[in-house]
Amino acid sequence: AKGAQYGGIAFGLHKPYFELSTDEVELIDAFMDEAGIAIENARLYLELQARNEDLQNANVRLRELDQMKDELVSVASHELRTPMTAIKSYLWMALNREAQSLSPKIKEYLERAFLSSDRMIDLVNDMLSASRLEGGRVELNLQAHNIVELIRYVVEELTPKANEKGLKLQLNVPAGDFPYGIVDDERFHEIVINLIGNAIKYSEKGTVEISVSTHPQGSPHHKNAESTIDHYIWVEVKDQGLGIAREDIPRLFKKFGKLEQGSFTKTAEAGGTGLGLYITKGLVELHGGTIWIESDGEGKGSCFTFSIRIA
Ligand code: ADP
Repeated sequence: AKGAQYGGIAFGLHKPYFELSTDEVELIDAFMDEAGIAIENARLYLELQARNEDLQNANVRLRELDQMKDELVSVASHELRTPMTAIKSYLWMALNREAQSLSPKIKEYLERAFLSSDRMIDLVNDMLSASRLEGGRVELNLQAHNIVELIRYVVEELTPKANEKGLKLQLNVPAGDFPYGIVDDERFHEIVINLIGNAIKYSEKGTVEISVSTHPQGSPHHKNAESTIDHYIWVEVKDQGLGIAREDIPRLFKKFGKLEQGSFTKTAEAGGTGLGLYITKGLVELHGGTIWIESDGEGKGSCFTFSIRIA
């Protein structure tokens, strides 16, 4: 079969070979071909089964390793959090209580150490959140909430940070009653703080506009969402900052999705973990919503929109 030999078949004939009719010879030939193909198929089938088994075993092993990695990250992050928080607190005390007696150089060193410990805690927290999400260990306490108030709270929380950079935060809510959304308030807070926090982090000028609406505007995603439009609230966070190069958009929501070209040099200075949007997307989807981004390119601002179900 297919140019290869898999064995031989012996025939016992009742007459000498040269007395066989053409039909009989053709019959034997045809039988040999069929048998060859059948044997080859059976051999391939067995081989395939063996490969399948190997793959299945490898898959199980990979899943075990993945779970071990998740557990390791989770335990390590948890264990790191306590000492890191202690370091940060002592640095804060050293910086604030002894301010007068510190030389400018020592003060600068302490400030840098304080900021680094703060970033490390952020990273550890993000790693914990990501590992909980991946391990399916985030349980939502879903309830009807006034999401406008929840967003207003985040806006108030982040206004000092925005003002420090000379940015304005503006919350746009349609006039009249606004429907409640079904959210876990703590996780919703995490989603909104990540998006507004990023808008501040990656903007040097202008206004960060946060708009809530029951009628999303001008995105291709809305076409798919039209059939369910009545059941969703849309939250849009729009900035006039660095923007995102078109080719970078597909990588944004990936784990450690810090951008390596385009906006990267600028974002590296901003000191992020590259986990924020990955977690944000995971949380939005866990709520049954979707998230996407529109940007006209670098330097032209970004607009992140996500949906949340109406109560
Ligand atoms: P990070 O901790 O680095 O901010 P994120 O997952 O939140 O991680 O964001 C991933 C990357 O996406 C950032 O490093 C940044 O390059 C880009 N990015 C996120 N939000 C914005 C924004 N509003 N404007 C411009 N770039 C952004």
